[in-house]
Amino acid sequence: MDVAATRDWVHGIAAAIDEHTDLLTQLDSAIGDADHGANMHRGFAAVVAALEGREVATVGDLLVTTGMTLISSVGGAAGPLFGSAFRAIGKALPDPNADPKQLLVGLTDGLAAIQRLGAAAPGDKTIVDAYAPALAAFEDELAAGGDLVCATSRAAEAAEKGMRATAPLVARKGRASYLGQRSVGHQDPGATSTALIFRALAEAVAG
Ligand code: ADP
Ligand code: MG
Ligand code: MG
Repeated sequence: MDVAATRDWVHGIAAAIDEHTDLLTQLDSAIGDADHGANMHRGFAAVVAALEGREVATVGDLLVTTGMTLISSVGGAAGPLFGSAFRAIGKALPDPNADPKQLLVGLTDGLAAIQRLGAAAPGDKTIVDAYAPALAAFEDELAAGGDLVCATSRAAEAAEKGMRATAPLVARKGRASYLGQRSVGHQDPGATSTALIFRALAEAVAG
C-alpha cells in the first residue's frame, strides 16, 4: 500500500461517513446520545482538511496525522478510540509504502490501542466486535497466501458480519451500557463505523 492508496482510504472513509451520517446518528439515538454521525463527520472532515495540500512521505505519516486529528477534533468516545487506532497503525508503518505483513502488524497495533484505551472485550457491543473479526480474517487470508486485495476484502466482509452481530448483544461498555438489556436489538454505531472503515480500505486497495 503506497501513500496514494492510503490517501484514497482516508478520503473513502470520509465519503462513506458523509453518506451514512444519518444512519450513524439513528443508531446512536437508539442506544446512545445521537451524536455518533456528527462526531464521525466532524472528525473526518477535519482529517480531510488537515491532509489537504500536505506532503506526506510515508503511509505512517498520513495515518498518524489522521489519528491525531481525530483525537483533537472529536469529543465523545469514538474520536479518541479511532484516533488512537489510526495513530498506532501509522506508527507501525515508517516506510514510504506498507506491505501486507506490515499492515497486519499495524492493524494489530490499532486494535491493541483501542482495547488499551477502552478496555472492551469481544462481545461487549463496541468497535471491537467489528474490528477483531476483520483483523482475524485479514490475518487468515494472508496466511492462506492471499494478496492484499483478497485480505482487505475478507476483512471488510468480516467487519460487516461482526457489525450485524452486535444487534443481539447487551452493551457492556460506553453509553449504551447504561441501558443494559434495553440495548438488545440495536446495532452498535461504532461497530458500524468500523465496518465502513474496513470497506473503504478494501476499495482503496482494489483501486
Ligand atoms: P459517545 O458515546 O461518547 O457519545 P460516540 O457516540 O461517538 O461517543 O461513539 C459511540 C461508540 O463508541 C459506541 O457505539 C461504541 O462502538 C464505541 N465505544 C464506546 N465505548 C467504547 C469502549 N470502551 N471500547 C470500544 N468502543 C467503545
Ligand atoms: Mg454518542
Ligand atoms: Mg456523545
